[in-house]
Amino acid sequence: MILLWRITTHCNFSCGFCAYDRRLPIARHAADPDEVERVIGLVADAARMRGEPLLVSWLGGEPMLWRPLFGLSARLARHAAVALSMTSNGTRMDNLEVRRHLLDHFAEVTFSLDGPASVHDGLRGAPGAYDRVRSAIVALASERAREGARLKLRANIVLMQATLPSFADLCRTLADWGIDDITFNQLGGRDRPDFFPAQALRPDDSRRLSDTIPALKDELGARGVRLCASPDYLARIDASTRGHPLAVHDCGPGEQFLFVDELGRIGPCSFTLDDHGVAIDQLRTVADVDSLAARFRQSRQRHRAAVCDDCPSTQFFGKFAA
Ligand code: SF4
Repeated sequence: MILLWRITTHCNFSCGFCAYDRRLPIARHAADPDEVERVIGLVADAARMRGEPLLVSWLGGEPMLWRPLFGLSARLARHAAVALSMTSNGTRMDNLEVRRHLLDHFAEVTFSLDGPASVHDGLRGAPGAYDRVRSAIVALASERAREGARLKLRANIVLMQATLPSFADLCRTLADWGIDDITFNQLGGRDRPDFFPAQALRPDDSRRLSDTIPALKDELGARGVRLCASPDYLARIDASTRGHPLAVHDCGPGEQFLFVDELGRIGPCSFTLDDHGVAIDQLRTVADVDSLAARFRQSRQRHRAAVCDDCPSTQFFGKFAA
């Protein structure tokens, strides 16, 4: 089971394609740490009783800006069923104590990085961001090797017109730094429709990407780096570039993935919380957690969300499969 929790919508970067760009005059929210700990305890107990591991993945905004992160993560990591993950822009990882915490308590960290310094820093509105991510990855890789720690280092690249030309070289650079896994997603248009048209991938881009992947996968694989780019996932990207909707009639809602937002709504994915989300204060027992999949399924049968007619869930289409 994977539980993704968007713990904050605060961010210190100005990414023109993101809904949480710090320049946007939106209300910002952060999760209630007591509720996060209580609910994850229930989900972890449910997973343990089923004999399954639970991967808890912190998302933002920028998760490192959420003050309770470290104390809470240290406590959760003691639960036998729980492994921790986080997606970060690299903020605060120049700090040795922060890296110590990641090495001690986390199973994986995903760094957002989109291109060489001029491209990445420009897109993210954060001068020096590329260098900080590089330093963090190199330091963590070296500290991990020295201590025999098991932290997995992953990078995620957003593919768009500005980043596609440097994609293969960036993958090689990430391999040099000590990254284990590389994932990517195409730019979406939901968050910032103004940014999207000039930067969206086109069918020719998708074809070139698919042509590049097999040799690049082999090259990186020979260096011990896993490029996650399954045929299903590439087909999903291609369909989007052509404007072909991919309807999903049964995604097994809530069976393998749960998403919780900063307001405390839990659902089968981030896209359908308005349709199928349940307030986490309704979850009082392990049985309540166990009943979620059936509740989501019934809710979808009563009224399937319009977004399911072109499901944007990268997990569903195998983003993390090689
Ligand atoms: S958007 Fe996709 S993952 Fe989410 S409920 Fe619909 S089909 Fe399932």
